Amino acid sequence: MSNSAGAGVPQGREPVPSDVLRVFRQPPGRALMLGHVHPDADVLGTLMAAGLALEKAGWSVVYGGPHPAPASLDFLPGIERYVPLSRIEGRFDLALLTDCPNPARTEGLIDQAREATSAVVNIDHHPDNRRYGHVNWVDPTAAATGEMVYELLAAMPAEITADIATNLFTAVHTDTGSFRYSNVTPATFRIAAELTAAGAAPAVVSNALYERRPVDALHHLGRALSLVQVSEDGRVAWLALPDGTVPESFVEAEELVNYPRSIASVRVACFLREIQGKTKVSLRGKGDVDVQVIAARFGGGGHRNAAGFTMAAPLEEATRQVLTAVRAAVPAERHS
Ligand code: 5GP
Ligand code: MN
Repeated sequence: MSNSAGAGVPQGREPVPSDVLRVFRQPPGRALMLGHVHPDADVLGTLMAAGLALEKAGWSVVYGGPHPAPASLDFLPGIERYVPLSRIEGRFDLALLTDCPNPARTEGLIDQAREATSAVVNIDHHPDNRRYGHVNWVDPTAAATGEMVYELLAAMPAEITADIATNLFTAVHTDTGSFRYSNVTPATFRIAAELTAAGAAPAVVSNALYERRPVDALHHLGRALSLVQVSEDGRVAWLALPDGTVPESFVEAEELVNYPRSIASVRVACFLREIQGKTKVSLRGKGDVDVQVIAARFGGGGHRNAAGFTMAAPLEEATRQVLTAVRAAVPAERHS
């Protein structure tokens, strides 16, 4: 069963813009599904879903981005088609970027794609999206870009196959912290229900995401968690991870920032990871501090409760600067 465009639109949410639909409804040609750096499940799930739907409609589709898909997402149907691209070859009638707020997050591929493509479509839920596409659809009320791509496919209309459903369900599942974050709305569950009815298996997805750790991972986790520190007032927690402490693949498969955030008193959690002299920073809030504002000051971005950036500073110096900014942003404890 496919929804009509109007019936599927949740309250308070804009319908799928007509210029986006027009591009996806054009006669089939060549399409590029272009991912951002260090792709996660929201970008990969939406690109695979949209690409598989276009292929069903007769399109020829190329999937790729600056970095390969992580091994932890090897269960996404079709993901073996997603390849690292160093440049854009040939011409395209459609290039889709999802979950990518700014063109810098494609390491220059977007500039080549713009030259080689008649219609660059930018679909995203980040409030700081730069609207770099020929056609832009940005909806910060969506918990995941996966919700938006579901609405798009339903409106086309495209058949939501089991493979498409699994990709979109995983996108929504991960960006909502397994349906636990404050971005979850009734629409999130409605869409998850439709995707489950269409063949996504929640237990299979959860198992693939969270129950496939190698034995070593628990030891790496122990080593990493022993580095968690908490401020005296208990309101800021951080984990500063020196290069080489644990394998890269382990860090990529875990959301380590979730551990310092899980402390009751913590308002902002920071994960700082040293990579070749630079430091990649993840910030997480709990609603009362807008961590995107902090990240923006360091040249990054994200959402109110989840943001990130990379600093050209070694770990110790980066940690000092980040903690200064975070402490200044965290309100002092209210005394009654
Ligand atoms: P994470 O901490 O999981 O890497 O990212 C959390 C959020 O912050 C995501 O929404 C992601 O798009 C955003 N983010 C992470 N790193 C950067 C960055 O370097 N630049 C920008 N603009 N956003 C980032
Ligand atoms: Mn997302």
